[in-house]
Amino acid sequence: MTQLAEKLKRGIAVSGPISLAEYMHICMADPQFGYYKNQTAIGAKGDFITAPEISQMFGELIGIWCLDIWQKLGAPKQFCLAELGPGKGTLMNDLIRAAKIIPEFISAANIFMVETSELMQTAQKEALQDTNLNITWISEVSDLPNMPTIVIANEFLDVLPIHQYVRSGNKWSERGVSIDKDNNLHDVLLAAILEEALLPNGYKDEPEGSVFETSPAREAIIEIISHKISDHTGAALFIDYGHATSGFGDTFQALRSHGFADPLAEPGLADLTSHVDFEKLAICAARLNIKPRISTQAEFLLAMGLIERAGSLGQNGGVQFQTQIQEAVERLASDSQMGSLFKVLCLNSDGIEPSGV
Ligand code: SAH
Repeated sequence: MTQLAEKLKRGIAVSGPISLAEYMHICMADPQFGYYKNQTAIGAKGDFITAPEISQMFGELIGIWCLDIWQKLGAPKQFCLAELGPGKGTLMNDLIRAAKIIPEFISAANIFMVETSELMQTAQKEALQDTNLNITWISEVSDLPNMPTIVIANEFLDVLPIHQYVRSGNKWSERGVSIDKDNNLHDVLLAAILEEALLPNGYKDEPEGSVFETSPAREAIIEIISHKISDHTGAALFIDYGHATSGFGDTFQALRSHGFADPLAEPGLADLTSHVDFEKLAICAARLNIKPRISTQAEFLLAMGLIERAGSLGQNGGVQFQTQIQEAVERLASDSQMGSLFKVLCLNSDGIEPSGV
């Protein structure tokens, strides 16, 4: 039993069951025992591996995407380059190295890292110290400056809390977390009910026990970024695992040491995430007059030149290095690995046509 489990149970005993969204938020962000306060999370020794950690090519191609957007925006003399949830800082480091081919881009960039975890901020500062660039760390997306803005977010949306609603009879009741008679954390249904208007088409045919997920926290981020790029011009790239069409199903998951774990078993020690409903987020952006485009990670990376980059990177290396690059291409872009499970949501202000999507 973790220290956070004890703390959660004390809270539930006093104030009653909590929603899944509250549970996720506490598990990830509790100031004493939250996952991102204490865990190294990403990498071979952590709980999961992300695309920037698989290969430098990922961040480099995103760097080229940013350069192209900046040029299409008319090469503004000052702009904001923001990364949300930057993990170990690897993506930004690779992005900057690739983008240095146009020094004016680098000198125009006001770089912002949006990160809530102090542990992660420290890792990012270390990763980026050799760039000798002036980089600002903030913890809230709403604190980004008012200027043309280019936003990158890889595996950021999936960590934001979700609500789950379970079909029971003709109602969709919210799932929560309570304590059972043996004082263990367990699933319960709460009194809150989801309005039918918020369910996707076909909900009447869903069987008893079917699950529907919502994430107001993700929608809030999309709305803030959409306002920013509609008011000040710009573009954003959200890359994550999820579905391009809204649907039903329980995608809440816990990851620990590269394997799936029971999300209620070790709160604070496992990474809690869920799949992103990209259609819902695209609708949020479109409501604010932003044009959303959804593609797969494979489509995006291949259109941005993954194969060509792999070829030039491997050119002067030995066979072992070339094999590593080949494996990285497979991992990032093949359908059996990340290629089609991961989607890219691109948002952009009027008048520009982003590449790769
Ligand atoms: N983008 C990185 C890391 C993904 S893990 C990569 O691809 O490797 C999620 C990251 O989001 C971590 O850095 C975590 O500390 C950060 N994070 C979690 N919740 C956040 C929030 N509400 N605001 C900003 N960053 C957050």
